[in-house]
Amino acid sequence: MRKTNLKKQIKQLKEKIYAKCLDCTCYQPKEVILCEIKECPLWSERPKDKKGLYSLSRNLKRKKSQFFEAKN
Ligand code: SF4
Repeated sequence: MRKTNLKKQIKQLKEKIYAKCLDCTCYQPKEVILCEIKECPLWSERPKDKKGLYSLSRNLKRKKSQFFEAKN
């Protein structure tokens, strides 16, 4: 495997973990950073600061806007 492919895969995996953590906290980045559920398998890999987390949250909300809109 080429080094660039491996770096790309690591980045994608990291984004997926971050996305799962955001999903778990109803897209509240601050709650992800403050997560205290050490039993979770993702806990050690969760984002520890807000770098890139708010923009990822915004992008995910935009992509999945139907989940956030109230239905009449
Ligand atoms: S580490 Fe925390 S925020 Fe992330 S998925 Fe697990 S429980 Fe949820």
